Amino acid sequence: MKVCKFGGSSVADAAQIRKVIEIIRADDDRRIVVVSAPGKRFKGDDKVTDLLIDCAVRALEGGDISPAVNRVVQRYEEIRDELRLDVSLAEMLKTELRRRLARSRDEGLNREQFIDSIKAIGEEFSARFCAAAFRVAGCDAVYVDPCEAGMLLSEQYGAAQLLPESYELLEKNIAPRKELVIFPGFFGYTKSGEIATFSRGGSDITGAILAAALHAESYENFTDVDAVYPVDPRLCPEVVGAGIGIREMTYAEMRELAYAGFAVFHDEAVLPAIHAKIPINIRNTNHPEQPGTFVVPVRKTIPGRVNGIASSMGFSTLYVEKWLMNREVGFVAQLLQILAEAGVPIEMMPAGVDSVTVVFRNDALPENRRAAVLETINERLHPNTAVFSSGLAFVVVVGEGMRTAVGTCARVVTTLSKAGVNLQMINQGSSEISIMFGVSESDIKPAVQALYQEFFVHE
Ligand code: ASP
Repeated sequence: MKVCKFGGSSVADAAQIRKVIEIIRADDDRRIVVVSAPGKRFKGDDKVTDLLIDCAVRALEGGDISPAVNRVVQRYEEIRDELRLDVSLAEMLKTELRRRLARSRDEGLNREQFIDSIKAIGEEFSARFCAAAFRVAGCDAVYVDPCEAGMLLSEQYGAAQLLPESYELLEKNIAPRKELVIFPGFFGYTKSGEIATFSRGGSDITGAILAAALHAESYENFTDVDAVYPVDPRLCPEVVGAGIGIREMTYAEMRELAYAGFAVFHDEAVLPAIHAKIPINIRNTNHPEQPGTFVVPVRKTIPGRVNGIASSMGFSTLYVEKWLMNREVGFVAQLLQILAEAGVPIEMMPAGVDSVTVVFRNDALPENRRAAVLETINERLHPNTAVFSSGLAFVVVVGEGMRTAVGTCARVVTTLSKAGVNLQMINQGSSEISIMFGVSESDIKPAVQALYQEFFVHE
Protein backbone atom coordinates (compact mmCIF):
# COMPACT_ATOMS: atom_id res chain seq x y z
CA MET A 1 0.00 0.00 0.00
CA LYS A 2 1.21 3.51 -0.84
CA VAL A 3 0.42 6.83 0.80
CA CYS A 4 0.28 9.69 -1.72
CA LYS A 5 0.49 13.33 -0.80
CA PHE A 6 -0.44 16.07 -3.24
CA GLY A 7 0.89 19.58 -2.62
CA GLY A 8 -0.92 22.88 -3.15
CA SER A 9 -0.06 23.20 -6.85
CA SER A 10 -1.47 19.68 -7.45
CA VAL A 11 -4.90 20.64 -6.11
CA ALA A 12 -4.87 24.31 -7.15
CA ASP A 13 -7.80 23.98 -9.55
CA ALA A 14 -10.15 21.49 -11.21
CA ALA A 15 -7.69 20.56 -13.99
CA GLN A 16 -5.04 19.63 -11.42
CA ILE A 17 -7.50 17.62 -9.33
CA ARG A 18 -8.39 15.62 -12.45
CA LYS A 19 -4.71 14.72 -12.78
CA VAL A 20 -4.68 13.60 -9.14
CA ILE A 21 -7.62 11.29 -9.81
CA GLU A 22 -5.86 9.79 -12.85
CA ILE A 23 -2.67 9.20 -10.87
CA ILE A 24 -4.52 7.41 -8.09
CA ARG A 25 -6.49 5.31 -10.55
CA ALA A 26 -3.30 4.24 -12.33
CA ASP A 27 -2.08 2.21 -9.34
CA ASP A 28 -4.32 0.11 -7.07
CA ASP A 29 -1.73 0.30 -4.30
CA ARG A 30 -2.38 4.02 -3.89
CA ARG A 31 -4.91 3.81 -1.05
CA ILE A 32 -4.35 6.91 1.06
CA VAL A 33 -4.44 10.40 -0.43
CA VAL A 34 -3.26 13.38 1.62
CA VAL A 35 -3.95 16.83 0.20
CA SER A 36 -2.76 20.37 0.83
CA ALA A 37 -4.95 23.44 0.47
CA PRO A 38 -5.22 24.79 -3.09
CA GLY A 39 -1.97 26.58 -3.94
CA LYS A 40 -0.98 29.06 -6.65
CA ARG A 41 -2.44 28.49 -10.11
CA PHE A 42 -0.07 30.95 -11.79
CA LYS A 43 2.75 33.33 -10.88
CA GLY A 44 1.42 36.04 -8.60
CA ASP A 45 -1.65 34.01 -7.53
CA ASP A 46 -2.47 33.50 -3.84
CA LYS A 47 -2.32 30.29 -1.86
CA VAL A 48 -5.57 29.55 -0.06
CA THR A 49 -3.63 29.21 3.22
CA ASP A 50 -2.38 32.80 2.82
CA LEU A 51 -5.92 34.00 2.07
CA LEU A 52 -7.13 32.26 5.22
CA ILE A 53 -4.39 33.83 7.34
CA ASP A 54 -5.51 37.18 5.94
CA CYS A 55 -9.13 36.39 7.03
CA ALA A 56 -7.94 35.47 10.52
CA VAL A 57 -5.78 38.57 10.96
CA ARG A 58 -8.59 40.85 9.76
CA ALA A 59 -11.00 39.20 12.19
CA LEU A 60 -8.53 39.66 15.05
CA GLU A 61 -8.07 43.30 14.16
CA GLY A 62 -11.82 43.86 13.93
CA GLY A 63 -11.66 44.69 10.20
CA ASP A 64 -14.09 43.84 7.41
CA ILE A 65 -13.67 40.12 6.73
CA SER A 66 -16.16 39.80 3.86
CA PRO A 67 -13.78 40.45 0.91
CA ALA A 68 -11.22 38.00 2.33
CA VAL A 69 -13.88 35.35 3.01
CA ASN A 70 -15.28 35.78 -0.51
CA ARG A 71 -11.86 35.25 -2.09
CA VAL A 72 -11.49 31.93 -0.27
CA VAL A 73 -15.01 30.78 -1.08
CA GLN A 74 -14.60 31.75 -4.73
CA ARG A 75 -11.55 29.48 -5.11
CA TYR A 76 -13.58 26.49 -3.95
CA GLU A 77 -16.70 27.47 -5.92
CA GLU A 78 -14.67 27.45 -9.14
CA ILE A 79 -13.46 23.93 -8.36
CA ARG A 80 -16.98 22.83 -7.44
CA ASP A 81 -18.50 24.19 -10.65
CA GLU A 82 -15.87 22.74 -12.97
CA LEU A 83 -15.96 19.32 -11.35
CA ARG A 84 -19.77 19.36 -10.98
CA LEU A 85 -19.65 18.75 -7.26
CA ASP A 86 -22.52 19.07 -4.83
CA VAL A 87 -23.61 22.71 -4.43
CA SER A 88 -23.95 22.31 -0.67
CA LEU A 89 -20.19 21.76 -0.23
CA ALA A 90 -19.35 25.43 -0.79
CA GLU A 91 -22.23 26.46 1.51
CA MET A 92 -20.78 24.21 4.18
CA LEU A 93 -17.37 25.87 3.73
CA LYS A 94 -18.84 29.37 4.00
CA THR A 95 -20.80 28.52 7.14
CA GLU A 96 -17.85 26.79 8.80
CA LEU A 97 -15.43 29.62 7.98
CA ARG A 98 -17.78 32.25 9.36
CA ARG A 99 -18.49 30.14 12.46
CA ARG A 100 -14.79 29.77 13.21
CA LEU A 101 -14.08 33.43 12.50
CA ALA A 102 -16.66 34.36 15.15
CA ARG A 103 -15.01 32.11 17.73
CA SER A 104 -12.14 34.42 18.75
CA ARG A 105 -14.61 36.86 20.24
CA ASP A 106 -17.04 34.31 21.65
CA GLU A 107 -14.72 31.70 23.09
CA GLY A 108 -11.58 33.61 24.01
CA LEU A 109 -9.07 31.60 21.96
CA ASN A 110 -5.54 32.94 21.96
CA ARG A 111 -4.16 34.40 18.74
CA GLU A 112 -2.23 31.31 17.60
CA GLN A 113 -5.08 28.90 18.41
CA PHE A 114 -7.47 31.09 16.48
CA ILE A 115 -5.23 31.45 13.40
CA ASP A 116 -4.63 27.67 13.34
CA SER A 117 -8.35 26.95 13.41
CA ILE A 118 -8.79 29.19 10.34
CA LYS A 119 -5.70 27.94 8.46
CA ALA A 120 -6.86 24.32 8.78
CA ILE A 121 -10.00 25.10 6.78
CA GLY A 122 -7.87 25.15 3.60
CA GLU A 123 -6.82 21.52 3.91
CA GLU A 124 -10.10 20.31 5.40
CA PHE A 125 -12.17 21.55 2.49
CA SER A 126 -9.55 20.65 -0.08
CA ALA A 127 -9.91 17.06 1.16
CA ARG A 128 -13.72 17.23 1.30
CA PHE A 129 -13.84 18.60 -2.26
CA CYS A 130 -11.33 16.04 -3.54
CA ALA A 131 -13.27 13.19 -1.92
CA ALA A 132 -16.42 14.43 -3.68
CA ALA A 133 -14.50 14.71 -6.97
CA PHE A 134 -13.28 11.11 -6.64
CA ARG A 135 -16.85 9.97 -6.01
CA VAL A 136 -18.14 11.85 -9.07
CA ALA A 137 -15.40 10.07 -11.04
CA GLY A 138 -16.78 6.75 -9.80
CA CYS A 139 -14.25 5.94 -7.03
CA ASP A 140 -15.35 4.77 -3.62
CA ALA A 141 -13.64 7.58 -1.70
CA VAL A 142 -14.23 8.91 1.78
CA TYR A 143 -13.09 12.03 3.64
CA VAL A 144 -11.44 11.08 6.93
CA ASP A 145 -11.21 13.68 9.65
CA PRO A 146 -7.90 13.94 11.57
CA CYS A 147 -9.81 14.21 14.86
CA GLU A 148 -11.74 10.96 14.35
CA ALA A 149 -8.62 9.26 13.02
CA GLY A 150 -6.51 10.20 16.06
CA MET A 151 -4.02 12.74 14.69
CA LEU A 152 -3.10 14.08 18.11
CA LEU A 153 -0.73 17.04 18.23
CA SER A 154 1.11 19.07 20.85
CA GLU A 155 -0.19 22.51 21.85
CA GLN A 156 2.58 24.33 19.93
CA TYR A 157 0.10 26.14 17.72
CA GLY A 158 1.52 26.93 14.28
CA ALA A 159 4.42 24.51 14.79
CA ALA A 160 2.77 21.52 16.47
CA GLN A 161 4.36 18.10 16.81
CA LEU A 162 2.80 14.67 16.73
CA LEU A 163 2.05 12.97 20.04
CA PRO A 164 3.55 9.46 19.81
CA GLU A 165 0.33 7.66 20.79
CA SER A 166 -1.17 8.86 17.49
CA TYR A 167 0.58 6.15 15.49
CA GLU A 168 -1.44 3.39 17.10
CA LEU A 169 -4.70 5.33 16.90
CA LEU A 170 -4.18 6.21 13.23
CA GLU A 171 -3.43 2.60 12.36
CA LYS A 172 -6.46 1.32 14.27
CA ASN A 173 -8.82 3.86 12.72
CA ILE A 174 -7.59 4.00 9.14
CA ALA A 175 -6.17 0.56 8.27
CA PRO A 176 -9.54 -1.28 8.28
CA ARG A 177 -11.11 1.16 5.78
CA LYS A 178 -11.97 -0.36 2.45
CA GLU A 179 -12.60 2.93 0.66
CA LEU A 180 -9.96 5.23 -0.80
CA VAL A 181 -9.09 7.51 2.12
CA ILE A 182 -8.84 11.26 1.44
CA PHE A 183 -7.10 12.90 4.36
CA PRO A 184 -6.37 16.60 4.91
CA GLY A 185 -2.74 17.52 5.50
CA PHE A 186 -1.27 20.13 7.83
CA PHE A 187 -3.47 19.87 10.93
CA GLY A 188 -4.59 17.69 13.78
CA TYR A 189 -6.08 18.17 17.23
CA THR A 190 -4.71 18.76 20.68
CA LYS A 191 -5.88 16.62 23.60
CA SER A 192 -8.14 19.50 24.62
CA GLY A 193 -9.86 19.26 21.23
CA GLU A 194 -8.42 22.41 19.62
CA ILE A 195 -7.18 22.42 16.04
CA ALA A 196 -3.40 22.78 15.75
CA THR A 197 -1.29 22.97 12.59
CA PHE A 198 2.24 21.93 11.78
CA SER A 199 4.57 24.66 10.54
CA ARG A 200 4.05 25.94 6.98
CA GLY A 201 4.31 23.28 4.32
CA GLY A 202 3.32 20.73 6.96
CA SER A 203 1.11 18.52 4.78
CA ASP A 204 4.33 16.68 3.93
CA ILE A 205 4.52 15.77 7.63
CA THR A 206 0.94 14.45 7.65
CA GLY A 207 1.72 12.19 4.68
CA ALA A 208 4.88 10.85 6.30
CA ILE A 209 3.05 10.17 9.58
CA LEU A 210 0.31 8.22 7.82
CA ALA A 211 2.87 6.27 5.77
CA ALA A 212 4.65 5.32 9.00
CA ALA A 213 1.44 4.54 10.94
CA LEU A 214 0.12 2.32 8.16
CA HIS A 215 3.48 0.66 7.35
CA ALA A 216 3.18 1.77 3.73
CA GLU A 217 5.53 0.29 1.13
CA SER A 218 6.30 3.84 -0.02
CA TYR A 219 5.37 7.47 0.51
CA GLU A 220 4.78 9.23 -2.79
CA ASN A 221 4.99 12.98 -2.49
CA PHE A 222 3.56 14.65 -5.59
CA THR A 223 4.61 18.19 -6.34
CA ASP A 224 5.46 20.20 -9.46
CA VAL A 225 9.03 19.22 -10.34
CA ASP A 226 10.26 16.14 -12.25
CA ALA A 227 12.98 15.57 -9.68
CA VAL A 228 14.45 17.54 -6.82
CA TYR A 229 16.84 20.15 -8.23
CA PRO A 230 20.37 20.00 -6.83
CA VAL A 231 20.32 23.79 -6.27
CA ASP A 232 17.61 26.35 -5.59
CA PRO A 233 16.18 27.31 -9.02
CA ARG A 234 15.41 30.81 -7.72
CA LEU A 235 19.15 31.42 -7.30
CA CYS A 236 20.23 29.39 -10.28
CA PRO A 237 17.44 29.47 -12.91
CA GLU A 238 19.58 27.60 -15.46
CA VAL A 239 19.03 24.36 -13.50
CA VAL A 240 15.41 24.32 -14.71
CA GLY A 241 15.25 22.29 -17.87
CA ALA A 242 18.93 21.27 -17.65
CA GLY A 243 17.90 17.68 -16.98
CA ILE A 244 19.97 17.65 -13.80
CA GLY A 245 17.70 16.26 -11.11
CA ILE A 246 18.64 14.27 -8.04
CA ARG A 247 17.64 10.68 -8.77
CA GLU A 248 18.38 9.27 -5.35
CA MET A 249 19.40 10.57 -1.96
CA THR A 250 19.57 9.22 1.57
CA TYR A 251 17.31 10.33 4.43
CA ALA A 252 20.32 12.06 5.98
CA GLU A 253 21.04 14.01 2.79
CA MET A 254 17.39 14.98 2.46
CA ARG A 255 17.26 16.14 6.05
CA GLU A 256 20.37 18.32 5.61
CA LEU A 257 19.11 19.80 2.34
CA ALA A 258 15.54 20.34 3.52
CA TYR A 259 16.74 21.97 6.74
CA ALA A 260 18.96 24.34 4.81
CA GLY A 261 16.37 25.64 2.43
CA PHE A 262 15.24 22.92 -0.02
CA ALA A 263 11.62 24.03 -0.24
CA VAL A 264 10.45 20.91 -2.06
CA PHE A 265 10.03 18.79 1.08
CA HIS A 266 9.46 19.77 4.72
CA ASP A 267 12.54 18.96 6.80
CA GLU A 268 10.49 17.50 9.68
CA ALA A 269 8.66 15.15 7.32
CA VAL A 270 11.71 12.96 6.86
CA LEU A 271 11.64 11.78 10.47
CA PRO A 272 8.52 9.54 10.51
CA ALA A 273 9.76 7.92 7.30
CA ILE A 274 13.20 7.34 8.81
CA HIS A 275 11.76 5.64 11.89
CA ALA A 276 9.54 3.36 9.82
CA LYS A 277 12.20 2.95 7.05
CA ILE A 278 9.73 3.93 4.34
CA PRO A 279 11.18 5.13 1.03
CA ILE A 280 9.97 8.55 -0.09
CA ASN A 281 9.41 9.20 -3.78
CA ILE A 282 9.09 12.86 -4.79
CA ARG A 283 7.22 13.06 -8.10
CA ASN A 284 5.55 15.46 -10.49
CA THR A 285 1.73 15.56 -10.75
CA ASN A 286 2.14 17.11 -14.20
CA HIS A 287 4.53 14.39 -15.45
CA PRO A 288 3.58 11.24 -13.54
CA GLU A 289 5.54 9.10 -16.03
CA GLN A 290 8.81 10.53 -14.62
CA PRO A 291 10.37 8.41 -11.85
CA GLY A 292 11.12 11.43 -9.64
CA THR A 293 13.56 11.47 -6.74
CA PHE A 294 13.87 8.54 -4.33
CA VAL A 295 14.81 9.18 -0.71
CA VAL A 296 16.08 5.96 0.80
CA PRO A 297 17.91 4.72 3.93
CA VAL A 298 21.20 3.93 2.12
CA ARG A 299 22.49 4.28 -1.41
CA LYS A 300 25.60 3.57 -3.45
CA THR A 301 27.81 6.64 -3.60
CA ILE A 302 30.63 7.83 -5.79
CA PRO A 303 33.49 9.15 -3.62
CA GLY A 304 33.59 12.93 -3.65
CA ARG A 305 30.26 13.31 -5.46
CA VAL A 306 28.13 16.21 -4.19
CA ASN A 307 24.40 15.50 -4.33
CA GLY A 308 22.93 18.93 -3.59
CA ILE A 309 23.71 22.49 -2.59
CA ALA A 310 21.23 24.18 -0.29
CA SER A 311 21.17 27.78 0.77
CA SER A 312 19.31 29.65 3.39
CA MET A 313 19.12 33.29 4.45
CA GLY A 314 17.84 35.11 7.49
CA PHE A 315 20.35 34.17 10.19
CA SER A 316 21.92 36.25 12.96
CA THR A 317 24.87 35.56 15.22
CA LEU A 318 25.79 36.28 18.80
CA TYR A 319 29.57 36.42 19.14
CA VAL A 320 30.89 36.11 22.70
CA GLU A 321 34.57 36.34 23.60
CA LYS A 322 36.25 35.91 26.97
CA TRP A 323 39.87 35.14 27.78
CA LEU A 324 40.31 31.66 29.26
CA MET A 325 36.74 30.73 28.33
CA ASN A 326 37.98 27.14 27.97
CA ARG A 327 38.87 27.08 31.71
CA GLU A 328 35.55 28.48 32.93
CA VAL A 329 33.39 25.44 33.59
CA GLY A 330 29.74 26.03 32.64
CA PHE A 331 30.32 29.25 30.67
CA VAL A 332 28.66 28.01 27.48
CA ALA A 333 25.92 26.30 29.50
CA GLN A 334 25.06 29.62 31.15
CA LEU A 335 25.11 31.43 27.83
CA LEU A 336 22.70 28.89 26.38
CA GLN A 337 20.58 29.17 29.52
CA ILE A 338 20.18 32.92 28.92
CA LEU A 339 19.14 32.28 25.32
CA ALA A 340 16.77 29.54 26.43
CA GLU A 341 15.15 31.95 28.92
CA ALA A 342 14.64 34.33 25.96
CA GLY A 343 13.05 31.44 24.02
CA VAL A 344 15.70 31.36 21.27
CA PRO A 345 16.24 28.06 19.42
CA ILE A 346 19.90 27.60 18.44
CA GLU A 347 20.83 26.50 14.92
CA MET A 348 24.55 25.92 15.43
CA MET A 349 27.50 26.95 17.56
CA PRO A 350 31.01 27.11 16.11
CA ALA A 351 33.58 27.79 18.85
CA GLY A 352 37.24 28.76 19.34
CA VAL A 353 39.45 28.62 22.44
CA ASP A 354 38.20 31.88 23.90
CA SER A 355 35.13 32.56 21.81
CA VAL A 356 31.86 31.08 20.76
CA THR A 357 29.39 32.11 18.08
CA VAL A 358 25.76 31.20 18.48
CA VAL A 359 23.76 31.13 15.25
CA PHE A 360 19.99 31.59 15.30
CA ARG A 361 17.26 32.60 12.89
CA ASN A 362 16.54 36.36 12.79
CA ASP A 363 12.92 35.99 13.80
CA ALA A 364 13.83 33.86 16.85
CA LEU A 365 15.13 37.01 18.54
CA PRO A 366 13.93 40.25 16.91
CA GLU A 367 16.29 43.26 17.01
CA ASN A 368 14.21 45.08 19.65
CA ARG A 369 14.78 42.28 22.20
CA ARG A 370 18.52 41.90 21.73
CA ALA A 371 19.71 44.73 24.01
CA ALA A 372 18.00 43.11 27.02
CA VAL A 373 19.66 39.77 26.27
CA LEU A 374 23.08 41.48 25.98
CA GLU A 375 22.53 43.14 29.34
CA THR A 376 21.87 39.79 31.01
CA ILE A 377 24.95 38.24 29.35
CA ASN A 378 27.17 41.10 30.53
CA GLU A 379 25.76 40.92 34.06
CA ARG A 380 26.06 37.15 34.49
CA LEU A 381 29.08 36.22 32.36
CA HIS A 382 31.30 39.36 32.19
CA PRO A 383 32.65 38.64 28.68
CA ASN A 384 35.28 40.82 26.91
CA THR A 385 32.90 41.16 24.01
CA ALA A 386 29.32 40.16 23.29
CA VAL A 387 27.80 41.38 20.06
CA PHE A 388 24.89 40.52 17.78
CA SER A 389 25.04 40.78 13.99
CA SER A 390 22.55 40.03 11.22
CA GLY A 391 22.65 39.35 7.50
CA LEU A 392 24.20 35.89 7.62
CA ALA A 393 23.34 33.22 5.06
CA PHE A 394 24.45 29.62 4.71
CA VAL A 395 25.49 27.57 1.73
CA VAL A 396 25.39 23.88 2.53
CA VAL A 397 27.15 21.34 0.36
CA VAL A 398 25.67 17.87 0.89
CA GLY A 399 26.69 14.44 -0.34
CA GLU A 400 27.19 10.99 1.19
CA GLY A 401 30.19 10.69 -1.16
CA MET A 402 32.05 13.34 0.85
CA ARG A 403 32.49 10.85 3.69
CA THR A 404 34.80 8.69 1.64
CA ALA A 405 36.79 11.26 -0.30
CA VAL A 406 39.50 13.77 0.48
CA GLY A 407 39.44 17.26 -1.00
CA THR A 408 35.78 18.22 -1.45
CA CYS A 409 36.05 21.02 1.09
CA ALA A 410 39.17 22.31 -0.67
CA ARG A 411 37.30 22.30 -3.97
CA VAL A 412 34.39 24.24 -2.46
CA VAL A 413 36.65 26.80 -0.81
CA THR A 414 38.68 27.31 -4.01
CA THR A 415 35.51 27.74 -6.05
CA LEU A 416 34.10 30.26 -3.59
CA SER A 417 37.32 32.22 -3.39
CA LYS A 418 37.52 32.42 -7.21
CA ALA A 419 33.95 33.79 -7.13
CA GLY A 420 35.09 36.47 -4.65
CA VAL A 421 32.92 35.14 -1.83
CA ASN A 422 34.14 35.90 1.69
CA LEU A 423 33.66 32.96 4.09
CA GLN A 424 32.56 34.08 7.54
CA MET A 425 32.21 30.64 9.06
CA ILE A 426 32.80 26.99 8.16
CA ASN A 427 31.12 24.08 9.93
CA GLN A 428 31.48 20.45 8.98
CA GLY A 429 28.86 18.28 10.66
CA SER A 430 30.25 15.22 12.41
CA SER A 431 28.25 13.03 10.04
CA GLU A 432 30.70 14.27 7.37
CA ILE A 433 27.99 14.39 4.74
CA SER A 434 27.57 18.16 4.82
CA ILE A 435 29.72 21.26 5.09
CA MET A 436 28.12 24.62 5.89
CA PHE A 437 29.63 27.90 4.81
CA GLY A 438 28.45 31.11 6.44
CA VAL A 439 28.50 33.99 3.94
CA SER A 440 26.92 37.40 3.81
CA GLU A 441 23.42 37.45 2.31
CA SER A 442 24.59 39.46 -0.69
CA ASP A 443 27.08 36.70 -1.57
CA ILE A 444 24.57 33.87 -1.60
CA LYS A 445 23.72 34.03 -5.30
CA PRO A 446 27.30 34.15 -6.69
CA ALA A 447 28.25 31.42 -4.22
CA VAL A 448 25.50 29.02 -5.28
CA GLN A 449 26.00 29.75 -8.97
CA ALA A 450 29.74 29.10 -8.77
CA LEU A 451 29.24 25.83 -6.87
CA TYR A 452 26.56 24.70 -9.32
CA GLN A 453 28.99 25.21 -12.21
CA GLU A 454 31.79 23.41 -10.40
CA PHE A 455 29.91 20.38 -9.10
CA PHE A 456 27.11 19.84 -11.61
CA VAL A 457 27.99 21.44 -14.95
CA HIS A 458 31.75 20.76 -15.19
CA GLU A 459 31.67 17.56 -13.10
N1 ASP B 1 -1.26 24.75 3.05
C1 ASP B 1 -0.19 24.78 4.01
C2 ASP B 1 0.82 25.84 3.62
O1 ASP B 1 0.66 26.54 2.63
C3 ASP B 1 0.40 23.44 4.26
C4 ASP B 1 0.94 22.73 3.03
O2 ASP B 1 0.67 23.12 1.90
O3 ASP B 1 1.67 21.76 3.20
O4 ASP B 1 1.79 26.00 4.32
